[in-house]
Amino acid sequence: MLDVGRHPNVELMAYSEVEEVSGTAGCFKVKVRKKARYVDQDKCTGCGACTEKCPTDVLDLYNEKHSYRKAIYSWFAQGIPSTHAIDTDHCRVFNGKKCGICQKKCEANAIDFDQVDEVVELDVGAIITSVGYDVFDPIKIPEYRYRDLPNVITAMEFERFLSASGPTHGHLNRPSDIIVNSKIKDLEKIENRSTKALARLEEKNGKSSAEFYAEYEANGSGGDATLDQWADKYKEYQNLVKELTTLKEQAATFSTASKLAFIQCVGSRDLRFYPFCSGFCCMHSIKEAIIAHEHDNDTTSTIFGMDIRAVGKGFDEYKVRGSNNSNITYKRSRVAEIVRGDNDNPVLVYEDTQEQKVMREEFDMVVLATACSPTKGMQDLADILGIEINKFGFFKTSRDKPLDTSKEGIFVCGCAHSPMDIPESVAQASSAASRAVQVVTREKLLEVS
Ligand SMILES: Cc1cc2nc3c(=O)[nH]c(=O)nc-3n(C[C@H](O)[C@H](O)[C@H](O)COP(=O)(O)OP(=O)(O)OC[C@H]3O[C@@H](n4cnc5c(N)ncnc54)[C@H](O)[C@@H]3O)c2cc1C
Ligand code: SF4
Ligand code: SF4
Repeated sequence: MLDVGRHPNVELMAYSEVEEVSGTAGCFKVKVRKKARYVDQDKCTGCGACTEKCPTDVLDLYNEKHSYRKAIYSWFAQGIPSTHAIDTDHCRVFNGKKCGICQKKCEANAIDFDQVDEVVELDVGAIITSVGYDVFDPIKIPEYRYRDLPNVITAMEFERFLSASGPTHGHLNRPSDIIVNSKIKDLEKIENRSTKALARLEEKNGKSSAEFYAEYEANGSGGDATLDQWADKYKEYQNLVKELTTLKEQAATFSTASKLAFIQCVGSRDLRFYPFCSGFCCMHSIKEAIIAHEHDNDTTSTIFGMDIRAVGKGFDEYKVRGSNNSNITYKRSRVAEIVRGDNDNPVLVYEDTQEQKVMREEFDMVVLATACSPTKGMQDLADILGIEINKFGFFKTSRDKPLDTSKEGIFVCGCAHSPMDIPESVAQASSAASRAVQVVTREKLLEVS
């Protein structure tokens, strides 16, 4: 990616969208909307001084909503170009409030609240669409209780948990424990405010709240409203301390997840959703289980699936290494349901198809290998490009020309074509580029002759 960013013959237009395409192979006209970032890309050094001081917290989609970012942000640390953008849905200035802190903090003078979208028109010979895929939303399978059970997460979320730059800095903290810890932090802030308010009353009246409350319970307030208020505040404070003590006792028992379950084919090979195999999920589950074991050698993983599709050079050996060295067990099975166990542990109810028995097993955390589904914008983009979509929702190609779409001069590669892993996507990208070069050079030769 860095090489692409630096290449003299490549112009990157990140944060942009194709709006209109006209013409034919060899001479397409493409209208692109470069969306306003409200940060001048040429001036921004990516230092992050603006982000540090921005007062607005927003759930971070890159971390699958398990952490917060600011209203001025970069999508992720190594992004190209290394610039920032303002999220106008959340920025105070764009919501009629006073702020502008980022503008004051930016030494490069890059913040520009008046920036507008720019529409550019490009003359191109060929087009390659590589818009990738979306992950299937497991909420559509109610029996897996994704969202109801905090410790049932998707593989994408798990990848963020495993990452050193992720919400837990690579530790496998369970989401249910994270919720309790953040509740403790919130309650501690309220306790702090409450303690200060009570201290003011104690100073004014020359006695402790406990002393006052004992008298209040014996004699009442005698109609003095300020004493009633003090008593209410003290009762609230006592309840708060009780709740905090219980939560802290609970938090003292927390440990990272070490008994993991992976459920394969969530939405894939399922006639209710996608009948096809998503190709890469068996391997990414094995990879994730191996990495989790590298982080903590006590980790055990059970991978539940109809079969493990380790198709590719060295893939089966990798699978065997997982079971020999990384405590992975492969269980040929169908998971029927996930239910809540003690301590927010997810319990799997499944049929072990080798034993031919229905089983129950409790885990610390369950990871769903969700299907590779066509991106939401696929149909709109197909309409703009004037190309067809196949019955599964990916761009249509033919058997003899697998990277050619239904319109001459427009090619496809990667998961916009069908589910595939990174090496295959990269190989297809090279092939699609070669097909595009054939169109462009043919036009150039025609110009010369
Ligand atoms: C949890 C998980 C773990 C995985 N781990 C591995 C692994 O370890 N190894 C491996 O080989 N594969 C792995 N994969 C598979 C890998 O993600 C895919 O093979 C790869 O991302 C496909 O690349 P792509 O470029 O086709 O699509 P994408 O990576 O999806 O890239 C498409 C890009 O196009 C952008 N886009 C979409 N629509 C538009 C539009 N209209 N205009 C402009 N831009 C648009 C998207 O924002 C995105 O940046 C994993 C997948 C998952 C779900
Ligand atoms: S102006 Fe908006 S982006 Fe800038 S610091 Fe304030 S809230 Fe954050
Ligand atoms: S790669 Fe594995 S988990 Fe993914 S759909 Fe195919 S069989 Fe199921």
